[in-house]
Amino acid sequence: MFSADAIEAALGRFPRIHATHAPTALEPMARLGASLGLDLTVKRDDCTGVAMGGNKVRQLEFYIGAAEAKGADTILITGAVQSNFVRTAAAMARRAGMDCRVQLEERVPDIDATHRQNGNVLLDHLFGATVYSFPEGENEDAADASLAKIAEDLRLRGRIPYIIGLAARTPPLGALGYVVGALELAAQHGGSPPYDEIVVASGSAQTHCGILFGLRALGIEIPVRGICVRRPADIQEARVARRLTDMAAMTGLAVTIPDSDVRCFHDEREQGYGQMSGATHRAILRAARDEGLLLDPVYTGKVLAGLITLHERGHLAGERVLFWHTGGQPALFAYADALLPKPDDT
Ligand SMILES: *Cc1c(COP(=O)(O)O)cnc(C)c1O
Repeated sequence: MFSADAIEAALGRFPRIHATHAPTALEPMARLGASLGLDLTVKRDDCTGVAMGGNKVRQLEFYIGAAEAKGADTILITGAVQSNFVRTAAAMARRAGMDCRVQLEERVPDIDATHRQNGNVLLDHLFGATVYSFPEGENEDAADASLAKIAEDLRLRGRIPYIIGLAARTPPLGALGYVVGALELAAQHGGSPPYDEIVVASGSAQTHCGILFGLRALGIEIPVRGICVRRPADIQEARVARRLTDMAAMTGLAVTIPDSDVRCFHDEREQGYGQMSGATHRAILRAARDEGLLLDPVYTGKVLAGLITLHERGHLAGERVLFWHTGGQPALFAYADALLPKPDDT
């Protein structure tokens, strides 16, 4: 167990830029909470300030910091067509005076023209990112190899590329942004956050790992549940556990988190990455209509749907629940067709 100062000192050894509008607000979700029978609070990391916000702003503070420290002039990143990471990387590259090359992977089946042009894709183009397309959405290694090739071509032309790597072999620098987030949450509550459980999306797992690692480093034992958006829970839990070991090595903070403390949930009725189920659609409408709060179809809508299912099955650790919003709202516009009422809806 470490003091906040000791954790900050460990983070201070990593290059970082400061961009996040923080601390982000904590707000009660009174009506939705009451209808569920929960004391529900949301942490508004959709409002992190840069280019429509979201969790990638905290993560990119460390990637852009590393890129600057290496003298890079071009940021490279690969992600889904409607990736929030890609959009935010393009914005933060511009903010740091760098170019951005982005590779968009075909991960979601049967997408329409709106999905290809609106939402995050529109913003990628506004930021002047050079956009490449990659056909195999579920082949992480091949996507990384293709991006490495683009970087190599840049190097041959005298440029200095920096790849934001999310593969298992690259250090999870972005998770450091969520160690910062965990310290922030603790400080917002004078050191003892009053929640029985924290629920957050688990994709690359940098957010999930950062929050879990940061809280445990402080000696705070609140369960942190990752809602899967791409992989089944057992595979995701193994990924989180590996990343936590990487984080201890990377930061030099000897925090050991047992596998039993790595908790993911994947609702078997949910479909694959970026596919919006009925439950996710209903969760988006519920947050919008009970709270005036926007969720997204790929991550946070799935998270609220998962939170509701966990509660219905009696699997939450208690009634005081923190829903850690991670942003993603630009993707709403890419899913307009699926979200608009159909003529026969009442
Ligand atoms: C990327 C993303 C996530 C997942 O975060 P990871 O750190 O990759 O697990 C969750 N929500 C939104 C809106 C995202 O863009």
